[in-house]
Amino acid sequence: MIPGLELGPPQFWGLAAAFGLLLVIASVLLWVLARMVPNVPGPRWWSTGAVLVLVGMLLAGSQVHSQTPLGRALYVLGDCLMVLGISAVGEGLRRFCHRPDRRRWIVGVAVLYAALGLGFEAVGLPRYNTVTASAIITGLWIWIAWVALRYTGRRRHPLFVGVALCALLEGVGWAWRCGILMGSRNAELPEVVTHVNTILAGVGLVSTGALVLLYVLMVNFRLAEQLHALAVRDPLTGALNRRGFEESTGRLTGLSARLGQSVAVLMLDVDHFKRVNDSHGHHVGDLVLKALAQLVHRAKRETDVFARLGGEEFCLVLPGTDVPGARVFADRLRRSFETLEIDTGRSFLSCTMSVGVAYASAQALYSSRVDVVDLLRQADEALYEAKRAGRNRVRFYASEEVVSSRIDSRLFASTTS
Ligand code: GH3
Ligand code: MG
Ligand code: MG
Repeated sequence: MIPGLELGPPQFWGLAAAFGLLLVIASVLLWVLARMVPNVPGPRWWSTGAVLVLVGMLLAGSQVHSQTPLGRALYVLGDCLMVLGISAVGEGLRRFCHRPDRRRWIVGVAVLYAALGLGFEAVGLPRYNTVTASAIITGLWIWIAWVALRYTGRRRHPLFVGVALCALLEGVGWAWRCGILMGSRNAELPEVVTHVNTILAGVGLVSTGALVLLYVLMVNFRLAEQLHALAVRDPLTGALNRRGFEESTGRLTGLSARLGQSVAVLMLDVDHFKRVNDSHGHHVGDLVLKALAQLVHRAKRETDVFARLGGEEFCLVLPGTDVPGARVFADRLRRSFETLEIDTGRSFLSCTMSVGVAYASAQALYSSRVDVVDLLRQADEALYEAKRAGRNRVRFYASEEVVSSRIDSRLFASTTS
């Protein structure tokens, strides 16, 4: 015990009541949140966790002084519920980070504790039961801190760092409880437990309050992310829309220039698409667009930016791709689309597309000689040339860099400006 720090029942009941009330508020708030945003995993687990901790705390707290076998069993059950509740809080965090189900693992830890706790009580070693519960709960909080830091990407979000700090604070509190219980062999166990629980209730009050606030903010950020993802994508094809394209390419070309990477821009346009709509209906036209987008999604690298800029016009920005690489990629896409048989439900339909390509070296980007807007215009001009030359072909905008590359000059668009 800390010398001079006299913590008796009045302090204990005051803090325990405040902590209990906070857990009630947390349970209700997180439950409401879970109902309001069912597509964000996590809040349901956090709410369940808060309820279990509250019930466990009340049950164990009511049996601290009990000496009967039933009372001791209920004490173990209370701690077991707390173990389950804290595990549920961690599981909620894992689910929030899209990690797979670990429900069995959680139940396993609770069962392990229950077996050990009941065993110690049965052989007359209640102190070891309390120490075991504290040690397991310490481990769980450290695990939660680890989850908060481990699954949140390389750029750690401050909110997750906050969760990790709260979990560590709890972990330190429970580890300290463990140490006090081990080191106070001469004192009466219920008295020691009341003393350390008073401090733990204070720690819980701070960390639970902060955790609830952090969870609510995390859910809000997740919703904002989801909204942003919807705002930058075309729902039909899953490609970025113009807004998403501008956001991504602004970042990408600056980055490419800094990394010393060239950039190739491809403009794709389905040939005679109007005819498809006119002879098969708009619905089939949509299927063609989806099929083309699927093909591109499969062929492109993760760093490539793919966007739908107009009705049947798509754009691909390929960082770190040279002229021959862009040529091979564009032609492979064109041929794959040409040979694709699109299932319309009644028959199979084949379409073709034309591709215009523009290219800028890292130097040209770095010196701001060209930017994305120039590249788009150049690719568009090359696309127009591909259409004029008979469609279903690839044409390059004949910039100096493209002309000096070793690709077939028949691929150059004749228009330059
Ligand atoms: P070209 O070979 O010269 O590109 O001829 P085209 O018929 O493909 O080109 P045009 O620009 O004349 O026609 C584009 C058509 O795309 C007209 C429009 O009705 C259709 N379109 C635009 N958006 C959509 C869409 O979301 N779904 C469907 N099914 N059609 C669309
Ligand atoms: Mg077209
Ligand atoms: Mg068009």
